[in-house]
Amino acid sequence: MSRVGSRARTTIELGDSLERVLGGKSARALESALGLSTVGDLLRHYPRRYAERGELTDIAGLELGEHVTVLARVDRVSGRKYRGNPGARRGGHILEIVITDGHRSLTCAFFNQQWRERDLRPGRTGLFAGKVSSFRGKLQLTHPEYQLLESDGDLSRLEEFAGALLPVYPAAQGLPSWSIARCVRQVLDTWDGLDDPMPEELRERLGVDRLDGALRRIHRPDGWADVEAARKRLKWDEALAVQLVLAQRKHWAVHRPAPACPPRPGGLLDAFDARLPFRLTDGQREVGAAIEADLSGAHPMNRLLQGEVGSGKTVVALRAMLQVIDAGRQAAMLAPTEVLAAQHARSLRELLGDLGRAGELDAAEQATKVVLLTGSMSTAARRQALLDIASGAAGIAVGTHALIQDRVSFADLGMVVVDEQHRFGVEQRDALRARAGEDASPHVLVMTATPIPRTVAMTVYGDLEVSALRELPAGRSPIHTAVVPAGEKPGWLERAWQRIREEVAAGHQAYVVCPRIGDSAGEEDSGDEPAEAEAGRRPPLAVQEVAPMLESGPLAGLRVDVLHGRLSPDGKDAVMRAFATGEVDVLVATTVVEVGVNVPNATVMVIMDAERFGVSQLHQLRGRVGRGDAPGLCLLVTDMPEGTASRDRLDAVAATLDGFELARLDLEMRREGDILGAAQSGRRSGLRMLSLLRDEDVIAAARTVAQEIVGEDPYFATYTGLARMVTELVDPEGAEYLEKT
Ligand code: ADP
Ligand code: MG
Repeated sequence: MSRVGSRARTTIELGDSLERVLGGKSARALESALGLSTVGDLLRHYPRRYAERGELTDIAGLELGEHVTVLARVDRVSGRKYRGNPGARRGGHILEIVITDGHRSLTCAFFNQQWRERDLRPGRTGLFAGKVSSFRGKLQLTHPEYQLLESDGDLSRLEEFAGALLPVYPAAQGLPSWSIARCVRQVLDTWDGLDDPMPEELRERLGVDRLDGALRRIHRPDGWADVEAARKRLKWDEALAVQLVLAQRKHWAVHRPAPACPPRPGGLLDAFDARLPFRLTDGQREVGAAIEADLSGAHPMNRLLQGEVGSGKTVVALRAMLQVIDAGRQAAMLAPTEVLAAQHARSLRELLGDLGRAGELDAAEQATKVVLLTGSMSTAARRQALLDIASGAAGIAVGTHALIQDRVSFADLGMVVVDEQHRFGVEQRDALRARAGEDASPHVLVMTATPIPRTVAMTVYGDLEVSALRELPAGRSPIHTAVVPAGEKPGWLERAWQRIREEVAAGHQAYVVCPRIGDSAGEEDSGDEPAEAEAGRRPPLAVQEVAPMLESGPLAGLRVDVLHGRLSPDGKDAVMRAFATGEVDVLVATTVVEVGVNVPNATVMVIMDAERFGVSQLHQLRGRVGRGDAPGLCLLVTDMPEGTASRDRLDAVAATLDGFELARLDLEMRREGDILGAAQSGRRSGLRMLSLLRDEDVIAAARTVAQEIVGEDPYFATYTGLARMVTELVDPEGAEYLEKT
């Protein structure tokens, strides 16, 4: 980090290693438990919340597997002996401490540590830290670490407790919150501060504190006012960093040249419209007009089209592609999986009819050709597809990411459609834009069925124009959703299988979705964890175990088949085809059926271990039923005990079909910082204070400020501090902040 020469050299800087300041042991613990290696990493490891004098932590909505720190009172203590099972586990003693927040309680279990009874007496208060597991349907902490207080609510014994608020940090097994607080204090004691990356005029205009003050106060606040002020500054930094990058991207994107594709009267699009078997909805018309105008221009379209499952996005995309073909160019359509790519190719050909059969005997006069290109086609088929794409014979190329990752050469690529954007990161978006060669970028239309809250639209998709299809074409059927608590009410699960039999008897079909494929070496460790207390989580249910169980049990006699990502592309295609034509009654599948699969005759979906899926994912999944004229039923099967956050989430999914509401919930359930963070890549993102749920105001304001700054100084020549801030908070490569799940 560069320093102003005139200032005295500070003892430590954000880039310094923690080892230098804290010594090897603490530094190693922070690195291995939390991946924190520099002073900056630690100072940016903000408290998750603060404990307040005399207030116990609300023990509600705990998440299984989560590491928690709670301030609670010991309520009851009991000890008992247990017998071991021969050959497996020796017997011993369990000490069970029930702690409470005054309303709810949580059991802490200690094995063969009877002596702890001396400390953990009823009425004592302390911080308890550990991983939440479940045992016999109840939540518990096994061998939690704890720090007891002298008297109820008296935090003063804790040396890290500076003012009225005690920071509670995201912690890990072996590194409790109070140890992190001690390290932070040690660092802050020797830290002199830094040059503020935000110019003073801007700070004044936004009404935010200096950064070093904010960093100090977030860790050691004197009161809530300190916390608020510190949060405000830290949020502004994050919001502004993201918006600056997006404003820059957009600036570059809209100034690039693109192949102009004005509509051609009497062309393929007109021919298609003339024989469309239905009336476009108002939404389809409106979005269609916006796209038509974009495509006619000399700068690339960058548009996101969101619309609920079944809202008719495909027709909108096809009409856009036809306009591009009318202008003498080609269009590519990308899908997240081979199954979907194949299905898209099929449905585009169907929609086009003889307008899509160029080169065949019965082709219409101005027909074009739709080719499918996937990573694993036979060499011959692949060669033919590549030839058609290179020669321009194919007006539309459909494929998976392979279409842009391979060195596929297009005769004249005018537009790229990306279906189901939520699987598609910004890097792919960039790779796409580079496809059309140096002199022009193709127009890009991305489509998603996941409703996008405004804040997400402004951040994750901030470089795109957003339009939405809000109404469904007429004739859709309602979907009813219910939670099936298999643990508490096994009878309900039997009833679920019976429902499938009834639907099949009535001529319909069903999906059973499992979180895992199963039966693969090294896919999951089956985990031999006989310890009673660890019995919290079994491995997720697998397609390859559930399918035979159903075939030989509750669904005996029905035609059951499986679909998952490890089948060969031909195998997948064959299964999908058999299901589509009704030769298979029940499809047991992984989330490969999540997006885009369209079999209107399927009316029931049973989702096993439903809590393993995200809210939006569940919503997508259930969109596979109720696509025909019969109503759809979706059953969410779970073992999660009542009162867990997971169970609450499933109830919420069952309670509403409002995609926007669910998208909000989905945001809520992600941990702070994960929202924009590059969690998958294992890289730390600097964004952890900003909440897409609560900080709409800051995000919107930052967007405006960022656009001003980029408008006047697109390369940050006069804003070197801000450029540095973007690099630190967003990512060295500048793209990792975008959500890629
Ligand atoms: P999405 O991709 O948005 O989930 P699709 O484009 O697959 O939805 O459309 C779902 C179904 O509705 C398709 O069979 C499609 O042909 C049909 N469809 C699309 N637009 C209309 C419309 N305006 N009126 C009637 N049916 C429509
Ligand atoms: Mg679709």
